[in-house]
Amino acid sequence: MSLGKHLRGAHVDHCKNTAGMPIIPMTLPERVSIPMSQHIGAPCQPVVAVGDHVKLGQLIGNTDAPMSAPIHASVSGDVVAIEQFMTQNGRVDTNIIIQADGKQEVAETVVPPVIDSRESFLKAVRDSGLVGLGGASFPMSVKYNVPEGSAEYLILNGAECEPYITVDHAAMLSYGKEMIAGMKTTMKWLGIKHGIIGIEDNKPDAIENFRKLLEGEKDIEVKALAHTYPQGAERVIIYECTGRVCAAGMLPINVGCIVSNVVSMLKLEQYFETGMPLVSKFLTVDGNLVAHPQNVEAPIGTAINEIIDFCGGTTGEVKKILLGGPMMGRAIPRDDFAILKSNNAILVFDDLFANRPDETACINCGRCVDACPMNLMPARLSRAYKDKDVDQLREYNVMTCMDCGCCAYVCPARKPLNFEFRMAKGLVQEDDKKRKEKEAKN
Ligand code: SF4
Ligand code: SF4
Repeated sequence: MSLGKHLRGAHVDHCKNTAGMPIIPMTLPERVSIPMSQHIGAPCQPVVAVGDHVKLGQLIGNTDAPMSAPIHASVSGDVVAIEQFMTQNGRVDTNIIIQADGKQEVAETVVPPVIDSRESFLKAVRDSGLVGLGGASFPMSVKYNVPEGSAEYLILNGAECEPYITVDHAAMLSYGKEMIAGMKTTMKWLGIKHGIIGIEDNKPDAIENFRKLLEGEKDIEVKALAHTYPQGAERVIIYECTGRVCAAGMLPINVGCIVSNVVSMLKLEQYFETGMPLVSKFLTVDGNLVAHPQNVEAPIGTAINEIIDFCGGTTGEVKKILLGGPMMGRAIPRDDFAILKSNNAILVFDDLFANRPDETACINCGRCVDACPMNLMPARLSRAYKDKDVDQLREYNVMTCMDCGCCAYVCPARKPLNFEFRMAKGLVQEDDKKRKEKEAKN
C-alpha cells in the first residue's frame, strides 16, 4: 500500500457554519445516563450502586481489562437506576443514571496526579478516563503504552477535515497553550524527540496561534496541511507530517508515531493540572434544521435532544440525525440517546439533505479510484461485494478501507460504496472466523 506522493481524497464542501464560534457550556441537565461501554475494548462494570450519592469526577465504572478506560460521574447527584438498554452504538449496555442535584460538587479524589516516572505518567493517562476524542474512542493509555524508545514523533491532529465540525478549531484558538503543555509532558515521559501539530491550511488563525506560542521551541513544529478530506485520518496525517507510510495491518507506532487529537491532548493536560477526568464533551451542533447552530460543552450522558434544545431546538420535520460529520458520522434512529466520550458533533437535517437520490449503474469513470486515499479500487470492490465473493474482497484489500466515504462522495452513479464496504468487511471477518473454527476442528 502506498498513500502516493500527494494525498488523494475529495474536495468536500466544508459547511463550517459554526467556525469562529466559542464553545459554550450548556445548562446542566436534570439527569444523565452514562453507558459503561464508551471505548474500544472491554466494558466497565459499575462501582457504585442505586441510592449512592456521587460527586463530579467520581469513578463510577471500571474494569481490570487492559483495553479499557474508567468512567466518571459527569454531574453530582444520586444514582437513581442502573439499567440495561440500547445506546447510540446499537448495543445493549449497562447504564448508570444519575439525577443531578445542580451543585456540581467535586469529588475528593479529583486532585492533580503525581507524575515522576513513565509508569506514573501512564497510570495518570489511564486514570484520566481519556479515549481518542476525534471519534475513534481508542483508550489513550493503551495508545501511549508503547515499547520504550519506539516513538519518535508525537503528532497532534488538528486537521478537522470533516464538514460542519469546528470544535477542534475553536479549542485550538482558546487552549493552544494547554495543548502544547500536554504535548511536552507526553514527550518527556515517552522519550519522544519531535512533536508536530498538523492543521489544515483553511484554519490560518489556529496555525498562527500555535506558531506564536511555539516561538523559540525547537522540538515542536506546526505543519500546515492541504485542506483535502480525509487529511485527519491517522494514516494520512502520519504520511503528510513525516513522509512515513503506515501500511494496512500496521499501527502508527510501527512507523515511530503516536497520533492524538487536539482536544484529547487538551483534556489530558487539564487532568494533569487539576485531576478532573473526562466528564464532558465539546460538540458542534449544526445541520439545516438546528435553530441556533453552535459549539457546546455538554456533560457526558446528556440526552441528545436536550443538547439540541439548548441550541434552540429544530425548525422543521427531522429526517436525519448524524453523530459525527456527514462523511464518517453515523445516523441514529432516535434523539434520546446519551452523548458519549467519542462524539464530537450532532447534525440534524430535513428531507433535502437526508434523501440520497437513487443509485444508477456504474459508468466505469474511475473517479472512485482517483479519490481513494488507500489506493483501493472501489468499483471492483463493489462488484465483489454484490457477488458476495469473499476471496475477491480479500484480494482487493477491503480490510484496508478506512470508511472515509471519499469514493461514495465523488461517484456520479451515487453508489453507497463505503456503506457496502462496511458490510463487506463483516463478510470477510465472518469467513475468517469460520476458517479458524474449521482449522481448530482438523
Ligand atoms: S471509503 Fe474505503 S474505498 Fe472508499 S475512498 Fe475511503 S478508503 Fe477508499
Ligand atoms: S465512481 Fe462510481 S460510477 Fe465511477 S467507477 Fe467508481 S463506482 Fe463506477
